[in-house]
Amino acid sequence: MRITDVLTNKGTTVTTVRPEETVEGLLRLLDERNIGAVVVAGEGTDLAGIVSERDVVRRLAEHGAAVLGMPVGEIMTTDVVTCTPEDEVEDLTVLMTERRVRHVPVVADGELLGIVSIGDVVKSRISTLEHHREQMEHYITQG
Ligand code: AMP
Repeated sequence: MRITDVLTNKGTTVTTVRPEETVEGLLRLLDERNIGAVVVAGEGTDLAGIVSERDVVRRLAEHGAAVLGMPVGEIMTTDVVTCTPEDEVEDLTVLMTERRVRHVPVVADGELLGIVSIGDVVKSRISTLEHHREQMEHYITQG
């Protein structure tokens, strides 16, 4: 299965924040949308970075509650790992494991087309494996 198929199933909505948004505002957004990471939008269509709950936890451990007033731009990761709609879900599993990230924005021709989380990847892999299992069962029982 390809990333484009995952987006067809889950949709293309990407929640973004501006780098000036406070960490407190970010936490509210993560809670409201029930998500673990958001893309940080730069000028125009630019991808300034990505920020996840992990970044907040790390900075909380370092700075305590003062982190809540910090701008998102100060805690985000700027070296963003992205994928394209044509990539295979299986390859993304490897990428996420190697780079230790659970969220990957989908980009083509500089345009942000969606975001895939490790939850989406696991769901897609299970449905592919289930499909293969059914085919094997059919092959064995129907001859
Ligand atoms: P996550 O596992 O997605 O919660 O993120 C763990 C760490 O990796 C955090 O520091 C994130 O800012 C960073 N991160 C998450 N997704 C990406 C990505 N696609 N590219 C680069 N860094 C990321």
